[in-house]
Amino acid sequence: MKETWFYESLFPSVKLGLKVKETLVSKKSAYQKINILDTYEFGKVLVLDGIVQTTEADEFIYHEMLTHLPMLSHSHPKRVLIIGGGDGGVLREVLKHPVKEVFLVEIDEKVIELSKTYLSAICRNSFADRRANIIIDDGVNFIKECKGKFDVTIIDSSDPIGPSKVLFSSKFYRDAFNALSNGEGIFAQQTGSPFLQREELPYVYKRLKKIFPFVATFLTAVPTYVGGFFSFVFASKGIDPLNIHLAQLEKRYRKFKLKTRYYNPEIHLASFALPTHIKETVETKRNG
Ligand code: SAM
Repeated sequence: MKETWFYESLFPSVKLGLKVKETLVSKKSAYQKINILDTYEFGKVLVLDGIVQTTEADEFIYHEMLTHLPMLSHSHPKRVLIIGGGDGGVLREVLKHPVKEVFLVEIDEKVIELSKTYLSAICRNSFADRRANIIIDDGVNFIKECKGKFDVTIIDSSDPIGPSKVLFSSKFYRDAFNALSNGEGIFAQQTGSPFLQREELPYVYKRLKKIFPFVATFLTAVPTYVGGFFSFVFASKGIDPLNIHLAQLEKRYRKFKLKTRYYNPEIHLASFALPTHIKETVETKRNG
């Protein structure tokens, strides 16, 4: 039988290839091309406009770091905003915390619908949780009406192309700052591969640094996000992420009985230790 392979189209000269058992979904929505593939190595994979978004096998790494690092850095996050995240992975992890309410604002209803059907191993019952408010809207519109409403805001968008591009603008970052509650308000966003998407992290870091008193970069590695390290930015109105103690994180981690496969308080603090070539890209921006 002829083998079927999917090749990601994110980088012009570097390709991730996945051997495919079956193409479960191949649809065009109002915003993007949606594919869900069943693969031999990574299970079911969500692909938007030819770019891997998440896979059953390695999603826990990305979703746990993007969620628990900002959530446990805050002393009592009760209201949380997720922009993007239509696969439900970040929502699942946020709901492990004793939050009062979570708003998930996804631009493409089809992504949520298809994730509920084909990616239940990722979203589980998260979308049906009574604390979850699911909003179909462009994040840039929704956030304008939320002055001081949220303790933690998590941007789980695709890369800064297509519908996500607006979520990497200074205007959006200012609105995100205003939508955070005073005191500790925390913002976190994925900023791609520092090796293959060299501009993305310094671009975001520089813009956030003009708006938030505290900004830092943290790293992980996700097997299907090609390029080695994968980066995120942490920004806060009042929390210096480099000044959080292990004991404090361990206390919160134990108190909420968080079950995680990648995240732990040690890796939380270690993820801010940057290799020199990445440090230099943000530091130059720090002094820029
Ligand atoms: N983890 C993935 C990554 O790092 O590339 C992101 C996964 S998540 C599925 C990305 C979601 O962001 C998509 O469902 C997309 O529809 C949504 N999205 C893109 N632009 C958006 C916008 N402006 N407002 C709200 N959601 C948006």
